[in-house]
Order: sequence, then C-alpha cells, then structure tokens
Amino acid sequence: MTPENLFHQMLGLGNEWAVTSCQFDPQTHLVTLHVRETEQFWKFYRCPQDGGEAFCYDHTEELVWRHLNVFEHKCEIHCRLPRARCRTCQKTQRVLPPWEGLSMHFTKGFEAMALLLLREMPVLTVAEMLDETDTRLWRMIFLHTLAAYQHKDMSQVTCVGVDEMNIRKGREYLTIFADLKEKAVLFATEGRDKETWDRFIAQWEKHEGHRHQLTQVSMDMSKAYSSGVAEWCRNAQVVFDKYHVISHINAAVDQVRKYELRYGPQSVQGALRKTLWIWRKNPENLTEKEKLRLAGIDHKNIWTAKAYQMRLVFQDIYRSSDAAEAKRRFQIWCRWVRMVAAQAPRYYFAAMLGSAKMVLKHLDGILAHWKEKITNAFMEGLNSVFSATKRRARGYRSSTHLIAILYLISAKLKIPFH
Ligand SMILES: [Zn+2]
Repeated sequence: MTPENLFHQMLGLGNEWAVTSCQFDPQTHLVTLHVRETEQFWKFYRCPQDGGEAFCYDHTEELVWRHLNVFEHKCEIHCRLPRARCRTCQKTQRVLPPWEGLSMHFTKGFEAMALLLLREMPVLTVAEMLDETDTRLWRMIFLHTLAAYQHKDMSQVTCVGVDEMNIRKGREYLTIFADLKEKAVLFATEGRDKETWDRFIAQWEKHEGHRHQLTQVSMDMSKAYSSGVAEWCRNAQVVFDKYHVISHINAAVDQVRKYELRYGPQSVQGALRKTLWIWRKNPENLTEKEKLRLAGIDHKNIWTAKAYQMRLVFQDIYRSSDAAEAKRRFQIWCRWVRMVAAQAPRYYFAAMLGSAKMVLKHLDGILAHWKEKITNAFMEGLNSVFSATKRRARGYRSSTHLIAILYLISAKLKIPFH
C-alpha cells in the first residue's frame, strides 16, 4: 500500500476524492496531504439548488485545512477545489468538500477535537496546545454555537430560572434564562432590566416555545424580572428562589455585625473581630478552629449572635413539609425579629427588620417554592462555570465571547454541529 492510499483510507474519502501526494517536512514537522476530486466525483455531483447535472468549470487556487495531527505532527489538507457549473441554472459554485468543518480553515475532525478541549480549558491554553491562533478558535466557537443554537428545541420548556451575572465588578451584567428541568441555559443577554424578558420571549418563540406555556419561574426578588413575567406570561407563577431569599437574610446578619463591630462596647468589638465567615456559614460547615471561636463568644450579650440564630431558624423553615406550615413559621419568625429589634439599640436590627418586611411582602412567591421545590441551584452552579468562563475568556471579556462560551458549555447544544 502506498502512503497516499493509506491516508486516503484513513481520511475515508471514498471514490470521489484521491490523495495525490503526501509529504513530511522534518524541519517544520508538517504533514501535507494533497487531495483532488476524481472522475467519479462528477458522475454523482448535483447542483445543491436544483439537483441539476453539473460539470467542472475550473478550480480554485490551493486551499488549506488544518486536520488532526499525525502522531505529534501538524497535518494539513491542501486542495484546489473544483468549481461546478450547473447545466440547469447556469450557476457556478465552489464544491463543498466532505472534510470541511464550519470554519473554512479546519477539517471536521480537527474542529470536533478542538471543541472537546474547549469545553474543559481556556481558549488561550487550547490555542497554545494546538499551535493555532485564538482568533481562529473563537471564530469556530461562534460558528458552532450559533448554528447549534438556531436548532435548539425549546418547545417543552415550562420551568424557567432567571438570574443576573456580573461581568465586570458591579458595572456590567448579563441576564441568564435557564430551563430548570433540563438544567440547560436557554438564553443569555446583556443587562438586567425588564427588557431582558422581552428579548427572551422573542427568542423563545423563535424556538417553538410559547409565552403562556411557562408555569413556573424562579428568580430573586428584584422588581425588573417579576414585572417582565407579569407582562408576558399570564400562566406563570413566580417563585422566589430559596437561595436568594436566604442570602438576603445572610446579608442582614452581616449588617448587624457591622453595626455592632462599630458601635458596640469594647468587649463585644473584640469578640466580633474577624468573625465574618463564621456567621455566614452553617454550623456543620465550620472548621474546628471556627467552632471553638464561636463557642467562646458570649451569645447572650451579642446581637449578631441573635441575628445568626434567626438566620439558622429561617433556613430550617425551608424543611417544612408543606406551604401551610411554612407560612405559619415564617409569620412567627417575622414577629420574633420585630420583638428583638424593639429591644436592640437603635438601628442595630434595621436590616433584619427590612428582611422581615420583605419576607411578608413576598410571602406568596416564597411559599410557591413548596409547589415543585424548584430552585436556581443549577444557576448558582453556573456562577462557578461562569467565573471559570471569565478566566477562560481571558482577554475577551466582551459579553458576546462570554455568552458563546456559556452556550458551548451549559446550553446542552449539539456541538460539534456537523
Ligand atoms: Zn442549478
């Protein structure tokens, strides 16, 4: 078997293409395969527009595609592609070779391998590994995510989670919509205002979805998102996401700590110094050292400790078996906060009071949690994917780049799209 035959078989080119020569340059470590069409090719080739017979009009100049390495050596396919003229419509067009990927510089095999790596590693790292430019890799990512996204079926979506993600410290945001049952990103867009919903609904309906099939939507208590739902989706029940609700209480506990650390008596200030993380954690997650520290704090005289107790009880309410029990306990909890706040020095419990008010005001949406127990846990997980994405996209922090990576990794798209 000649080397040409061997490569021809490995490439799976069939009777319509032939490897006419192959070279290895030991200086550049490059394997070059020259390919061209055979007589046989023209027997079967038909015009893609009308199926008419076509003949060879001429050939392009030599084009190059990066293919999978041969051992550790780079490999390229070189070919002067035929241009076919259709006898029916008289159009002349470049023939689409079977090896070509979505980006015209790479073969399908190379793209599939690169995309596999890109799911796990930053673009720059992959570019270095493959000895390619990151510009070319980005172009490929865009082509595949765009093509695969256009074919994404969203007709079965009924439970949606919506959340904001920070791109640049508090200045730029993306809003992400996800299918909470399939655990897949549906749509990501710039901003975090009500208009993000307009764009989502438009996009969803392009993908066989319908606004009124939405039954539950999980979100934080921000006004923008819930008014978007109210405007578009009359059948949707708003569920305030458990993690967001608890994080409000957590933030309030932290406010109490800050106040007490600044205005409390000397002894209390000493006890509270560097305890931020202790109050944020659950007791079972404390390290031995933190447990000792917590045990050494005189809880009776420290308001922060009371607020912390409240947070633990609040979390425990989420273990209630039904919404009625949870409702009763949330109401008792709010009374408890008001009572303690009345005894505490002025302003100490302002944030906790605010939380209690918020809980009462949003009680319906908070209790909706007990219907299907949906949460944005999947989306919280995205946050870590997302911060990895930000690192992955290093140097390319535009929202377009970030969205493309998010779709590549978390949208369950059919990628590579060949
Ligand atoms: Zn034609």
